[in-house]
Amino acid sequence: SDIPDRVLHIDDVHKSFAGLHALSNVDLDVRQGETHAIIGPNGAGKSTLLNVCVGRIEPDRGAVVFDGDALTGKSPHEINQLGVARVFQTPEVFLDLSVLENVMVPALSRRDGHFKLNPFTAFSGETEIRDEAEAVIADVGLKNRIHMTASSLSRGDKRRLELAMGLIQHPKLLLLDEPTAGMARHDTNATIDLLRKIKERGMTKVIIEHDMHVVFSLADRISVLAGGRIIAQGSPEEIKNNPKVKEAYLGE
Ligand code: ADP
Ligand code: MG
Repeated sequence: SDIPDRVLHIDDVHKSFAGLHALSNVDLDVRQGETHAIIGPNGAGKSTLLNVCVGRIEPDRGAVVFDGDALTGKSPHEINQLGVARVFQTPEVFLDLSVLENVMVPALSRRDGHFKLNPFTAFSGETEIRDEAEAVIADVGLKNRIHMTASSLSRGDKRRLELAMGLIQHPKLLLLDEPTAGMARHDTNATIDLLRKIKERGMTKVIIEHDMHVVFSLADRISVLAGGRIIAQGSPEEIKNNPKVKEAYLGE
């Protein structure tokens, strides 16, 4: 455990829900600048692991260390302030706000600490943040929906919106839980292109993904979870040819 360029270190994490071992003995390192995919069958514990990393779930045992700071015991907000942003499996956006306002919220929050949401005054006179929000919205392909209310977006577009809300934070680490779920193939491919572009900017990413096309298009390294345990780790090539992985996906 002396990998010099690792940004995230998950060390022996356990989590049970009423006797169900959702995570057992999970060790995982994420290196600076890499795109690390976590794959595995439904119910493998992928979302639980991500929720442990962002402070939504307290592990029963083990630790998560980010850039030298222990995340275990910190609140989601504190973890976010350290430079960890996430895109959840179920998009969490402000349904009553417009696309533009939604993307401005995390930027204002980052600048002002706890941001008091007052949609009548908060978004005026914020030219710089507004300009950047507009650029990020164009990046994720929502330019023509910028003034639409989030509640009126399709599920796929809500995911793009949440991605924009993550990107505008310029996180050191971006965690994505199935960012292409609910998207048609065309939108999935656009998202892959966007995530590639982000990678060129040097952003470290952990991506949970069910779609193998996405995984093999993006990942530098892959960890495979099954039954709450890491059963394989390696390059896409190594994972593709690993018999344990094929076995875990049988019966899916
Ligand atoms: P994945 O994201 O890989 O599909 P999850 O992490 O969502 O898997 O779930 C792992 C296991 O833990 C599943 O069996 C799921 O039913 C269970 N689980 C997840 N969250 C909870 C919870 N809050 N309470 C009880 N069981 C849960
Ligand atoms: Mg999940």
